[in-house]
Amino acid sequence: MRILLIEDNSQNRYLATFLLESRGHEVLQAESGPEGILMSGKCQPDLILLDIQLPVMDGYAVAQALRSDPALDTVPIVAVTSYAMVGDRERVLASGCDGYIEKPINPETFATDIERHLLSRRKTGEART
Ligand code: MN
Repeated sequence: MRILLIEDNSQNRYLATFLLESRGHEVLQAESGPEGILMSGKCQPDLILLDIQLPVMDGYAVAQALRSDPALDTVPIVAVTSYAMVGDRERVLASGCDGYIEKPINPETFATDIERHLLSRRKTGEART
C-alpha cells in the first residue's frame, strides 16, 4: 500500500519508513504540513500518517485541510503524537483523524497498527464529530 508520511523529524521519518517498507509498503515523505497537503492531492495515498507536532501548521490544522478535500474522503488519517494529555485523543479525532499512535514508536507493533487502519478504509460521508 502507498502511505504518505507527514513528519518533520528526520529520525522519526527514517524509523517509520524503515518499518513500513520492511512490510512491503511504499512510503512517500513530506517534511511539513503544506508539503503533505500538496502531495496528498497528487500521490493518491492509501493512508496518511500525520505527525501532530509540526512547525508552522500543526497536525490538527493539516488534518482539517486534508479532510476538506473530497478526493481523500475514504483515505484514513492516522495521527502520531507524543501528547499524552486527557482530551488530546478527542482533539485528534475531532480534527478528522481516524486513529492515533503514540510516540515513541514501538517497532514491535507499529506496522501492524498501521495495517489495521489500512484494512478499515473510511466510508464516504462517514459522520465525523
Ligand atoms: Mn514533529
